[in-house]
Amino acid sequence: MGKYLGPVCRLCRRERVKLFLKGDKCSTAKCPLSKRKKAPGMGSSKKGKLSYYGMQLREKQKLKRFYYLSEAQFHKYYELATKARGNTGEVLLQILERRLDNIIYRAGFTTSRKQARQLVSHKFFTVNGINVNIPSILIKKGDVIKIKENRINSSIIQENLNREISLPNWLEKIDAHTVKVIDLPLRSDIQDIQVKEQMIIELYSK
Ligand code: SF4
Repeated sequence: MGKYLGPVCRLCRRERVKLFLKGDKCSTAKCPLSKRKKAPGMGSSKKGKLSYYGMQLREKQKLKRFYYLSEAQFHKYYELATKARGNTGEVLLQILERRLDNIIYRAGFTTSRKQARQLVSHKFFTVNGINVNIPSILIKKGDVIKIKENRINSSIIQENLNREISLPNWLEKIDAHTVKVIDLPLRSDIQDIQVKEQMIIELYSK
């Protein structure tokens, strides 16, 4: 994600929400967010109210960090969303969900988007039978994403496949190693991040 190389849990604490950046740990009691609510560096004496601009900025940072993107990548998706038909905020979310690394994570093949990105770069997956190594590919309705045969027995994949996950209703499991995109995600499908996407659009439109 951009140049940020520090502890990722700090980002969740900054945004005060779970961004799910650390795989399985995020869903356990070990997640530091469940113990510590204050943003890093924010003592009780600094309870300043955010300006509207500050709130817009926080919404943007939250969504950008949730999908583990740099500012330049995130802004590119905003530009793309403005050119599409429909509500720009909702289109932006749909585009972000369509990234290959996100779909691999949603399919349960990896424990985080960050891990998905690493495994895509190491050519663990195919899309419609074609080897891919670009995590930012935007998947379309009807596309089939599969773990490559020669990667199925790798310890990381075996470990990930042994977890129970709930598949979004826009993905269909073909077999343990394959999912198909049967629909494009709707706004209502994205429930694990509470974000006011309209504020992000307002911020960028200034
Ligand atoms: Fe860390 Fe994950 Fe919890 Fe965020 S959600 S604070 S990345 S363990």
